[in-house]
Amino acid sequence: MFRCATCGAFNRVREPRPQGTPECGRCHGVLEVSGAPQEVDGEALDRAILGSPVPVLLDLWAPWCAPCRTAAPILDAVGRAQAGRLLVLKLNTDQHPEASSRLRVQGIPTFVVFAGGREVARRSGVLPRAELERWVMNSLAQGGAGATA
Ligand code: ZN
Repeated sequence: MFRCATCGAFNRVREPRPQGTPECGRCHGVLEVSGAPQEVDGEALDRAILGSPVPVLLDLWAPWCAPCRTAAPILDAVGRAQAGRLLVLKLNTDQHPEASSRLRVQGIPTFVVFAGGREVARRSGVLPRAELERWVMNSLAQGGAGATA
């Protein structure tokens, strides 16, 4: 399952993938299937959390935050490794302060896992890729039973 970065629609992509560039069934734009993290605003985040058929890993960050910059390539690697099975989103807390206060973000970077439309886990601070992936999988196994694709 892949989220269209343009319109936010979720698209099921068959394996093996058909030849050519996949396109979004709703807006017919190019569908990004790399699994790379997608930037969202508060509204897009809400729609993604409620509508996503796969678990969501959210990274709350800001450009001035050095640990956030350290975390960026880790998030990217996890997103690509879990492409289609986990949706990795990033929300810039400077640009969207209302969304971050709604989520009661205390410090950044903060990572939040959502499954089935609700939060199942969160933690703050950079962590190595293997540990981040393990934390996400464990959170889903415990908090979001049956939510893993
Ligand atoms: Zn689209």
